[in-house]
Parts: sequence; C-alpha cells; structure tokens
Amino acid sequence: MIDRKIIDLFRVPPGKKIRLKNYATDWAQTEELEELGKDEIKERAQQVLEQNLKDLAEMQNLLYADDRYALLIVLQGMDAAGKDGTIKHVMSGVNPQGCQVFSFKQPSAEDLDHNFLWRYMKALPERGRIGIFNRSCYEDVLVVKVHHELLDQQKLPPGKRGKSFWEGRYDDINAFERHLARTGTIVLKFFLHVSKQEQKRRFLERLDRPEKNWKFSAADVAERQCWDDYVKAYQDALAATSTDWAPWYVIPADHKWVTRAVVADIVTSALRKLDLKYPKVTEEQRQALAEARRLLEEEG
Ligand code: AMP
Ligand code: MG
Repeated sequence: MIDRKIIDLFRVPPGKKIRLKNYATDWAQTEELEELGKDEIKERAQQVLEQNLKDLAEMQNLLYADDRYALLIVLQGMDAAGKDGTIKHVMSGVNPQGCQVFSFKQPSAEDLDHNFLWRYMKALPERGRIGIFNRSCYEDVLVVKVHHELLDQQKLPPGKRGKSFWEGRYDDINAFERHLARTGTIVLKFFLHVSKQEQKRRFLERLDRPEKNWKFSAADVAERQCWDDYVKAYQDALAATSTDWAPWYVIPADHKWVTRAVVADIVTSALRKLDLKYPKVTEEQRQALAEARRLLEEEG
C-alpha cells in the first residue's frame, strides 16, 4: 500500500481553491520521493500495482456477495491523459460480470431532451458492482463551459449563464453524489493530470505509430488550443465538487506506472474500509444444504 500521507497530497481538500500547477504530473510529489529517485519509485509502484490488483479481485468478489454497496469510479482528464489505459490495467484482474464501463461522448438528441444528469443516472452501477465512468457529468461543467455554444444545444430555460449558473451545476452534482453516498454508492473521482508537454508527445506517438493512428483525432489538437481554459474549468470544478462524500484525486499522469499504481491503491483502500462480508448462512439454509448433500450422496 502507498503511504496515506502521499495519497492525502493527491486529494483535493473540500471548499478550497486549487492551482493545478501545484500538483505534480510526474512521480516527484514530495522531496522524500524525489530523493528516492525514479527507478526505485518505479519498482515500488509496480509492486504496489501487482498487490493491489490481487486484492481488488478478491474485494470485488466480496462486494458482489455482500450486495449492499456499489462503487462508482469517475475518470476525467485532458485528451491522451490515459483514461482508457487506466481502466484496462486497473480492472485487469476483476471479474467482468461485476464491472460496468460507460464512456460518455457528445450527448444524443434524446440526452439533450433531458436534464444534464439523466444519462449518467441511467448508467449507475447496481449494488455489488463496480461502475466506471470514462468521462462523466463533469463534461457538462468542463467542455460545455469552455465551448459555450454547446450549452445552447441543451435547450435550457432562458437566464444568465454567468458564475452563478455554473455554481448551480456544481451544487446539483454535489447533491446528486450526496444522494449516491447516502444510499450506498461509494464515489471516487480521479483527474488524470497530464502535462501539456507529455500530451504533445502522446499525440505525436499516435501520428507516428500505425497501430495508434486510429486514436488520433484532429479535434484533439484543436482542443489543445484551449488548454488554459480547460485548466481553469478543471480548477473551479474540482474545488467546488471535492467533498467528504465524493472526493477528487489529482493523479500524476505523465507516467502510466504512477497513474495505475495510485488509482489502484485508492480504489482498493476504499473497498477495504467497508465492512464487506459474505452473507451468513441461516439455520434454515444450513439444513437445506445438509438435505441437498444427503440427496446427492444417495444417488450413489
Ligand atoms: P473521447 O473520450 O476521445 O472518445 O471523446 C469524447 C468527446 O465527447 C470529448 O471531446 C468530450 O469532450 C465529448 N463529450 C463528452 N461529454 C460531453 C457533454 N456532456 N457535452 C459535450 N461534449 C461531451
Ligand atoms: Mg479523444
């Protein structure tokens, strides 16, 4: 497990303004880590990931058997921050039957005919499951805030679209997540924090490598021009919606081995904190089991 003191550094404190530039995108979040050096940290990260993947597979079984809680993992980040790869690796040991992934793209006409939370509500994990949102309702305070024309498509009643409009959306999201937490869904939110320089390197890799070409979208380069607007939108959204019941974590994302180890650690720790139990067998069930054994054994 990763030291809780380090994990706490990634957690966005509720109700405080944040500057993303104060959060590391690489592996050197503290002086202590910097002293250890990259090779040592990489090796430790790989051990942490391996152990956590084993534990996560077990915990997920238990989550399913216990059938009282659900876990919702929200992944946000700039293009090429590593959302897909994180899902693929962190969930690699988990039983596919207990896990649901939803990737949210531009909303459909039907989505736009509903309130902005509707399509996310429909995709929530059932009790006993892990649900992953690859992008989420946060797009409605990020891309929609950066590109105001998207808001016009949402057919909202007339009104000002200033600061208090966006604050209203943060309030709605907080209330939605509060409701989820109260009714047994654990909500963990990860912002994969990639540097602008590393994004460029990954885009170039998508252009250079034929098997990665399909991942490249010209729109991504256009979005990159709005980098600073996204940083502002993220800072506002993360500060306003990191709560005790649904915290945000800013995860260093320039190195995939850091991202995966830290996300896996936070997810596994959250499950460990629940008092998950295999259901107890009642006296009646015990008798039924004994009867079943008797019948099977009689068959000879
Ligand atoms: P990708 O994750 O590369 O498949 O891209 C999905 C695209 O859908 C991104 O450009 C998102 O910004 C966009 N998107 C996701 N949710 C929304 C939303 N609620 N409104 C507008 N665009 C969205
Ligand atoms: Mg994309």
